[in-house]
Amino acid sequence: MDTKRIQINDINDIHNEELMEAAQIIREGGLVAFRTETVYGLGANALNEEAAKKIYAAKGRPSDNPLIAHISCMEELTPLVAEIPEAGRRLAEAYWPGPLTMVFPKSAIVPYGTTGGLDTVAVRMPSDPVANRLIALAGVPIAAPSANTSGRPSPTTADHVWQDMNGKIEMIIDGGPVGIGVESTIVDVSGPVVTLLRPGAVTMEMLEETVGHVEIDPAIQGPPKADVKPKAPGMKYRHYAPKADLTLVEGMTADVTEKINRLVRERQAEGLKVGVICTEETRDAYPAGIVRCIGSRKHEETIAHNLFAVLREFDDLQVDAIYSESFSRDHLGQAIMNRLTKAAGYHMIQAQDQV
Ligand code: AMP
Ligand code: MG
Repeated sequence: MDTKRIQINDINDIHNEELMEAAQIIREGGLVAFRTETVYGLGANALNEEAAKKIYAAKGRPSDNPLIAHISCMEELTPLVAEIPEAGRRLAEAYWPGPLTMVFPKSAIVPYGTTGGLDTVAVRMPSDPVANRLIALAGVPIAAPSANTSGRPSPTTADHVWQDMNGKIEMIIDGGPVGIGVESTIVDVSGPVVTLLRPGAVTMEMLEETVGHVEIDPAIQGPPKADVKPKAPGMKYRHYAPKADLTLVEGMTADVTEKINRLVRERQAEGLKVGVICTEETRDAYPAGIVRCIGSRKHEETIAHNLFAVLREFDDLQVDAIYSESFSRDHLGQAIMNRLTKAAGYHMIQAQDQV
């Protein structure tokens, strides 16, 4: 299939013919990748089971991994859900449109092909004007997982999408780089307690400010356990994996830089190509290896924004091993560390340890 790539420069032009064409493709059951404020999404009509199947095929995604339905306004929520619990209403008021996905009991019109067989449906209202306009023009909710091949880092530019999806989907809308860079926060509001299923830019602190105590699904914290079924089915897969082995190094800054430098020298002595993920604050502390700065610790949003692009760049450079500094788990750090530890297959070492 020929993939058409279009550029949206002026979102204020509602009659943008190419955006109308994109909406038409979605209505007719095709696939269109588009920018959202979190990462690029791969969109299809969420109410059309055949269209949802095409998403799984294009991504190579396991079909028990449910899709998030994206809406453009509150009126579009009602038909998709059996009820809107009070916590869901409050969170929607506080954070929609924005990087928050909520899991509701589903209504009959949402096909099991979209929800991976679950009786719940995940819904988000994106704030990105390109995404919002496309959904409104399509006139149907748009199922849109990240527009990457399953297992690769999520795409934060249209070029990333092109690398993974060219020839597999009808259209890519290039709206420029995304703002946030990590996928939405997911909370389950369908049960008696609000539960965080995936951390994102709407942080635990922000959630608890709005609805009080929020539980954390254990699948967020560490490696998948055979006997614990994660509530968000996607959490069991090794997501965001770079091709190289990624190791996170924790500890005091001086110990971390020293440890990473030693490991880089050792790997290089073995003839390996080694990458280092550092921060603005430590940029000058690494004399060897391919060093990429992920952002500034003072501005964690810069780290979230660059994270997947840095992992993709190391894929392109075909490095064999990557060593990364690690981050605090407060606020946005929880989302950053969730993505990094998963990308590392939970391989973390302490800078002070001898091995
Ligand atoms: P992605 O679209 O790639 O950002 O991933 C969407 C994630 O949302 C999936 O991996 C699921 O884990 C989660 N999800 C979607 N629908 C549900 C649902 N009904 N219940 C729980 N988690 C869900
Ligand atoms: Mg994804």
